[in-house]
Amino acid sequence: MMIVVPCYNEEEALAVTAEALRAKLEELKQGRLIQETSGVIFVDDGSHDGTWSIIERLHGQFPDLYHGVKLAHNRGHQNALYAGLMQALAYDADACISMDADLQDDPDAVDEMIREYQNGAEIVFGVRDNRDTDTAFKRGTAHAFYALMGWLGTETVPDHADYRLMSREALKALSQYREVNLFLRGIVPSLGFQTAKVYYKRGTRVAGESKYPLKKMLTFALEGVTSFSTKPLAMITGMGALSVLIGIVMFIYTLVSVFSGHAVAGWGSIMCSMWFLGGFVLLAIGIVGEYIGKIYLEVKQRPRYIVEKSI
Ligand code: UDP
Ligand code: MG
Repeated sequence: MMIVVPCYNEEEALAVTAEALRAKLEELKQGRLIQETSGVIFVDDGSHDGTWSIIERLHGQFPDLYHGVKLAHNRGHQNALYAGLMQALAYDADACISMDADLQDDPDAVDEMIREYQNGAEIVFGVRDNRDTDTAFKRGTAHAFYALMGWLGTETVPDHADYRLMSREALKALSQYREVNLFLRGIVPSLGFQTAKVYYKRGTRVAGESKYPLKKMLTFALEGVTSFSTKPLAMITGMGALSVLIGIVMFIYTLVSVFSGHAVAGWGSIMCSMWFLGGFVLLAIGIVGEYIGKIYLEVKQRPRYIVEKSI
């Protein structure tokens, strides 16, 4: 089992986190729940501080326990995490757990994740049991986001961030997704497999400050929408059809006005052509959009299916 931890400028938190994870793994090894070769993979996401030298020092102390991957530049949490997951796959890990570097993801939930894995779950989602530690703003926007994603047809697990266990099989399936616009919280639930949820209490950051300012959060949300759904494009077609419909109503209305004698000359033709033309233009853009949507889905080259078993 490997624990994958993406780190961006985490010099303040890293030593504490590393020690907590070492203790946790030690305890699990003693309970014979995981193999002796289990360890931690730290992914340095192009940090500008001393994060990498801390990882090197940790590796020097416990070479079989702490592993490190250094990305050449900052590619964001999702890409850093993916890099770590693929490294775990390369290490032949039978399962791996992704976790933040600030100990907000309670390491004690790992026990139950492993239990669920042993009971046959290939993916175990860590779900926070409440959002007490969040500001009302973050709570509100998060729930609005889950509702929007659901409406757009993307399956996400509410209140689950990237704290999860994935089996080797699930990792292999994930590795077949070649897209570069990564939104793991959407891809992982869409993989299928037997899943389970483990509830945990999300703490506060152990040290340092959040690496996810509002701007990054918004970009992330937009990424979630646009890397999964082509529904916004389909909405243009809908708006075009609506405009044309209004044009027809307008046409009838102007006819009535002309025949009942209170229409100014020229008003009717302008009103009708405005709605019809607008509608046709929107419809045309929408149709182009439908094709772009198809092209978009094709270029992702996602696997058509994933075989879970064959006998
Ligand atoms: N992170 C990363 N690259 C980035 C931003 C963040 O690898 O560009 C990592 C960060 O080191 C941490 C995790 O992603 O391990 C979650 O970030 P953070 O705790 O700052 O987010 P928050 O909990 O405030 O949403
Ligand atoms: Mg955090």
